[in-house]
Amino acid sequence: MPKCNEGFSRLDGEYLFTKTKKAIEEYSLKHNGKKVISLGVGDVSLPLSPAVAKAFSSAARKMGNKEGFHGYAPYFGYDFLRRAIADDYKNKGVDVNESEIFVSDGAKRELSDFLSLFSKSTALIPTPSYPVYVDANIMRGNEILFLPTDESDGFIPSPEKIGKAESSDGYIIYLCSPSNPTGTVYSESVLSRWVEVALETGSVIIFDAAYERYITDGSVRTVYSVDGAKNCAVEICSLSKSAGFTGVRCGWTVVPEKLFMGGTGLNKLWQRRQSTAMNGVSYPVQAAAFAALTGKGRKQTEKAVSYYLKNAEILVNAVKNFGAEYYGGVNSPYVWLKCPRGLTGKEAFSTLLNEYGLVVTPGEGFGAGGENYIRLSALNTRQNTVSAAKRLAEFFN
Ligand code: PLP
Repeated sequence: MPKCNEGFSRLDGEYLFTKTKKAIEEYSLKHNGKKVISLGVGDVSLPLSPAVAKAFSSAARKMGNKEGFHGYAPYFGYDFLRRAIADDYKNKGVDVNESEIFVSDGAKRELSDFLSLFSKSTALIPTPSYPVYVDANIMRGNEILFLPTDESDGFIPSPEKIGKAESSDGYIIYLCSPSNPTGTVYSESVLSRWVEVALETGSVIIFDAAYERYITDGSVRTVYSVDGAKNCAVEICSLSKSAGFTGVRCGWTVVPEKLFMGGTGLNKLWQRRQSTAMNGVSYPVQAAAFAALTGKGRKQTEKAVSYYLKNAEILVNAVKNFGAEYYGGVNSPYVWLKCPRGLTGKEAFSTLLNEYGLVVTPGEGFGAGGENYIRLSALNTRQNTVSAAKRLAEFFN
């Protein structure tokens, strides 16, 4: 009998957002189907932009005629999209070859699939962080070393805290900027220190840039802005939160040609892995992704990001007057908000849900360090955000 993966028994019974969803359903049942406003799960509320929707539907229509039909897509993405992504990097001031770009169906799978390139390892994971990093490593049976972050370092993980490498094999280091849940952005100098540490310890950085499009103040938007990053870092990107692709599913992963671990090139290894384990991303999805990155679609995507950033500002303004302590809210669609009156994140979650009909995410769900915080998502509609802001202000008052 095949033995089940023992890693699963070390996981929390349910994924964080499944739990939140259940609590909302229970509330709804108790209150005769009363609707709540959710600033919980980070899903978008705006539809696809007109240029993206047009490209998506016209590519889908082409699939219905002989001339335009596309079968299996190339494993690593159509050339037209890989070129557009390479150009996108040029706009950020860095050179990434098309051969280093792997089109994906979004960031979440990549964050865990990439682990298949390594034998059992030690992952270094800042906490609080996006729960997928921890769960994916537990599922693979990896050891996890947590790197606490808190108010003292502004929730930016500090490489100094890891001290001398405890493992001679180096680490798989997860970094995320702008961070989910804290909304904080790494400065170039912090990123440079991380790259130095990764190179010194023979570690690989998995840089999660799912929210990079929210950086509007000139901070670095790609790990490759830092010297040496191509020798130690992969970058995982997504169109989910910028172009509204949460339901369309498209992103990309950059695996530099110069990235070697123990003499093995990870680019070649990832090619080998992907050509066995995935069969490409569909043509209409890649055509839509191309539209989101170029021409009118690019402008419309930027507009959507500005809309969500304005929502974040509305949420911040609602609590600022009460002296609330918060992180993010700029360069990020998340506000990481300290609970008032010494409440824990879970207590604030319950009170907000039951007394104000407002859903947030309790900070505990993102790991140690999140106990006294809640995460607010600015990805809801303007109307809901304005109502939510009023309810938050009442809660803080
Ligand atoms: N990375 C972070 C930090 C996220 O918050 C999310 C989604 O919420 C993802 C990755 C996954 O994005 P995608 O929709 O591309 O799978």
